[in-house]
Amino acid sequence: MNHSALGRVRYVMLDDYSIRFMLAAMRKTFGAWSASLRFYLGSFLGAGLAERLELNGLRGISALMRLEEIYEEMGWGKMKVVRFDPMKGIIVLVLKDSLEGMATNDGCHITRGHLAGFVSYVLNTRVSVEEVACVSRGDGRCEFVIRI
Ligand SMILES: [Zn+2]
Repeated sequence: MNHSALGRVRYVMLDDYSIRFMLAAMRKTFGAWSASLRFYLGSFLGAGLAERLELNGLRGISALMRLEEIYEEMGWGKMKVVRFDPMKGIIVLVLKDSLEGMATNDGCHITRGHLAGFVSYVLNTRVSVEEVACVSRGDGRCEFVIRI
C-alpha cells in the first residue's frame, strides 16, 4: 500500500475479534501488569511511526498534523485534535470509535502509549498522556490530554 505520509508500507491486518482476544489474554496472563505492557508496546509503536515519518521528511508539527489522517487509515479510530496550545504545553485529542476502547474494559493503554511515544519523538521531549474519558468506561468517546 502506498501512503503519502508513511511512504510505501505493508500492513498486517488484525480483525477486532483478534484484538479483543489478545487484550483479554494479556489481562488474564499479566493481570494488573497488562496496562503497563500495553502502554509500553504503544509507546514503542508510536516512536517507530514518528521515526518512519521523519525518514519521509515529516518532523515536528508537520508530523503531528498528519496524526488524524494516519490514525484513521490504520484503523485506530477517528482522531481529532480539539486543542493545540504549545505555549501552555497542552494538546487535547478526541478519539471516536476507538478499536482498543471497544475491545477492552480498562482504558486505551496502547493508544495512550502510542501518543506518548509519537509526540515525545516528534517534539524531542518527554510528554505525559492521560486518558480522561474512554468508551471502555462508558463515555461517548476517548479523550487524551497530552502535557508537554
Ligand atoms: Zn479509550
